[in-house]
Amino acid sequence: MTIENKVVIITGASSGIGEATAKLLASKGAKVVLAARREDKLERITSEIINAGGKATYRVTDVTKPEDNQKLVDLAKENFGKVDAIFLNAGIMPNSPFSALKVNEWNEMIDINIKGVLNGIAAVLPTFKEQKSGHVITTSSVAGLKSYPGVGVYGATKWAVRELMEVLRMESAQEGSNIRTATLYPAAINTELLESITDTDTLKGATALYEQHGITPDRIANVVAFAIDQPEDTNVNEFTIGPTSQPW
Ligand code: NDP
Repeated sequence: MTIENKVVIITGASSGIGEATAKLLASKGAKVVLAARREDKLERITSEIINAGGKATYRVTDVTKPEDNQKLVDLAKENFGKVDAIFLNAGIMPNSPFSALKVNEWNEMIDINIKGVLNGIAAVLPTFKEQKSGHVITTSSVAGLKSYPGVGVYGATKWAVRELMEVLRMESAQEGSNIRTATLYPAAINTELLESITDTDTLKGATALYEQHGITPDRIANVVAFAIDQPEDTNVNEFTIGPTSQPW
């Protein structure tokens, strides 16, 4: 089965990569369920998709709350009858050096970037096991593949996502549940991500990098569509995607 008629939940769908992916998948005939905290944005994007002839619904969701993730899966089933894929993409990146001691931001990143992904997996796994099919896709980062000064905690959350996804893939194969996994490792993509940076020097450096190299989030959406579009017996597991000009 290709993208058409697949039911896809997308977290972090109120901007950036999630928004671009929701729009692209809907334009290819998927039924998309959008999730994030900002309702005004979710409402606007959902309307845009529906007005363009697509099928979409949304639910205000805080991925750090297990019950919100569960309600999202319930909504997908109520509205569209099943869940074929979940794109666990919500994330924040308030980078800073350790010496700045922004401990609250460290904890927020751990809660959203790691526990948010785990909450999504926990919410959808029973359905996928019962169906004996499903697709878990996550947005890690190039910071989950190599180390960058000033990116210690964010990088750690993204390394964690890589580990969770690799073991999920192996266990799903062992258990015969036919669950596919794909992990994305983007470099500089122009979205709202830098808005969470409160450390002035870090923001300055990141802004300069993104202004020089950043590419648009639809580049990542294309890769999500590619992963979903593969035959059910084929798992395309990892993608590193970034600007041709960026040395990463
Ligand atoms: P954006 O800031 O544009 O999007 C982040 C999304 O996450 C928003 O929709 C935001 O919505 C949502 N979000 C944040 N916290 C929560 C929460 N607690 N519950 C639900 N949703 C939440 O940035 P991107 O599109 O770039 O980010 C998407 C993913 O891509 C992130 O995981 C990021 O780490 C990753 N990434 C991005 C790169 C880039 O260069 N842009 C590079 C590598 C990885 P809301 O505030 O409405 O809740």
